[in-house]
Amino acid sequence: MRQSLVIANWKLNGDLALLDSMMNGLSSQTGYVADVVICPPAVYLAAMQQRSLATATDSFKLHVGAQNCSEHTQGAFTGELAPQMLREVGCEYVILGHSERRNLYAETDALIAQKVATAQQQQLKVVLCVGESLEQREQGQTLDVVTAQIAAVLAADVDASQLIIAYEPVWAIGTGKTATPEQAQEVHAAIRQFLNQHSGVGEHIALLYGGSVKADNAAVLFAQPDIDGGLIGGASLDVEQFRAICSAVK
Ligand code: PGA
Repeated sequence: MRQSLVIANWKLNGDLALLDSMMNGLSSQTGYVADVVICPPAVYLAAMQQRSLATATDSFKLHVGAQNCSEHTQGAFTGELAPQMLREVGCEYVILGHSERRNLYAETDALIAQKVATAQQQQLKVVLCVGESLEQREQGQTLDVVTAQIAAVLAADVDASQLIIAYEPVWAIGTGKTATPEQAQEVHAAIRQFLNQHSGVGEHIALLYGGSVKADNAAVLFAQPDIDGGLIGGASLDVEQFRAICSAVK
């Protein structure tokens, strides 16, 4: 059985008031099939952990995630956050390799691979983001780009069986243009096949889709055989919409 997951990536958005309303809104309903993870800005992680414990029941807990971490565990790296520090304030998950980190902060495949290795060594569950640009898609390079991004990480000292991978076509992030369920499924199936060939873990790891997932398109995306949930940006800032997306995993 693969884990199904819905992960909220708040990016540089939200505040404590949203955290409260989101956690109350989500925990007022039960019976989610998916594990639900919220990744607020890092300054809110400790507060989120407190609220997560306060709203947890025997059958439900909101999981805490970070949007990034350092490839180092300590040292003279002003402004950085080490994975074990994130763990200490309650984080279980960390998003790495998001296209905004790759493109706006020049994170390379090599750096991302180091981050994944360090984060795993510190017992964080890594959500590795991969995805092609519009130009790459139009040139028919989608599968090559995505598998090369994954291969770069697998070449490092990482445990492939513990990865969660989010396929996020760059042209679909924050644009309102979602990949069709068929486009997303095709890439997810190819990623699974690649992981099987490379390290035999393809059938076991969770593959998420991200890119303009909304309440009205989530169910059809999540119904695809190789899509195990979603990584949600804009729509994760709206309690009703995010709750509907979490409920769309069957
Ligand atoms: P979006 O962002 O849902 O706003 O497109 C997804 C992401 O960047 O993870």
